[in-house]
Amino acid sequence: MKKIKILTIIAIVALSYSCNNSALQGMLNESETGIIVSEEEKAKFQNQIETFNTFTKGFYNEDIDLLMGVMADSAKWSPPSYNGNKVLDVVDFRAAVTNYFDTFDKITFNEGEGLVGSDNAFWSGSLYSAGETNTDPSVMRVYGTWSMVHTKTSAPVYNKWYGVLTFNEDGKIAVFSDWMDVGGMETQIQNFVDVNSHVCDENCGKEGHVCPHHPEIN
Ligand SMILES: [Zn+2]
Repeated sequence: MKKIKILTIIAIVALSYSCNNSALQGMLNESETGIIVSEEEKAKFQNQIETFNTFTKGFYNEDIDLLMGVMADSAKWSPPSYNGNKVLDVVDFRAAVTNYFDTFDKITFNEGEGLVGSDNAFWSGSLYSAGETNTDPSVMRVYGTWSMVHTKTSAPVYNKWYGVLTFNEDGKIAVFSDWMDVGGMETQIQNFVDVNSHVCDENCGKEGHVCPHHPEIN
């Protein structure tokens, strides 16, 4: 009888120890959903987030080598601006990035900003999908905003953004599709210039006089 008691105590101690083990905890959670995510897949997802953070750091620091270092040589890019749905290559992407560097400063990615009802910027795999359920992290969706300052006018520019990135086996970005209101950037710059270049005079507040400082009386 005493032996059984001791064995029971050992079993309880062993069980509570195992429950503190995060790997086992993970397995328990997975058995609830029936979906098994391997340690390798979890690590790949984390690495992809780090790679994307390097990508955004490259933008902020205007470091073309750092930024292009995370792009595969054969990378394909579907840009946010209208171009007749043409898919571009890494040379085109580099040229576009260089153009951003020349035109803007402090190009900052704000992770998860702009989402309503969620703070999570990074998503991979699919639990609910029109396609098949999968745990493959290779295709990652990223949500956030980009903010920057237009170098010539000091106009602040701010855009909601969404990207779908496919990573290859080397952890580099192999396919990059992104969505953003590129045309709206010009509008934001123009509005800033209009407000700042307008000097109010005795006509301001009178009918027919457009005053960007007082839009309520236009
Ligand atoms: Zn005015």
